[in-house]
Amino acid sequence: MNIRINGWETGIRFVAGHFLPSIEKCSRLHGHNYALLVEIEGEPNEDGIIIDFIRVKEAAHPVVEKMDHRMLLPSGGSSMEIMRADDEYTVRFNDKKYVFPASDVTVLPIDNVSAENLASYFAGELARSGIFGKNVRSVSVGVAEGRGQEAWARVVIN
Ligand SMILES: [Zn+2]
Repeated sequence: MNIRINGWETGIRFVAGHFLPSIEKCSRLHGHNYALLVEIEGEPNEDGIIIDFIRVKEAAHPVVEKMDHRMLLPSGGSSMEIMRADDEYTVRFNDKKYVFPASDVTVLPIDNVSAENLASYFAGELARSGIFGKNVRSVSVGVAEGRGQEAWARVVIN
């Protein structure tokens, strides 16, 4: 059995900037309205509940807050050179150079800020949040880059 939480409807959303150096159009700095979609698979406990919706939302909100109104940069990968000096990040790729104030940036432990990598990152963060009981089998997280296009990642819990 599954429960689902739709971030468009429940406020688990963020707006952020990114670029994908390997795709010409996407290599230009741009942003998206993102939402998290969460699906949890498991068996209802003796109270008929897989997990309280509120607990899932409380775990997801702080993760999303770190992204909101930020420039998202990857910490891994070789598609761009990222240097931090003082309070700025300098990013170089494809003969381009961007400089961002560090306070506007969130650096993520992924190779590229794609919806797929964001989904894997968020699924891992939720899985590590410790909110899931023995009755939960897996957590899947979808990252929507605007409505209608989503990437999903699944982490097995038990
Ligand atoms: Zn994009």
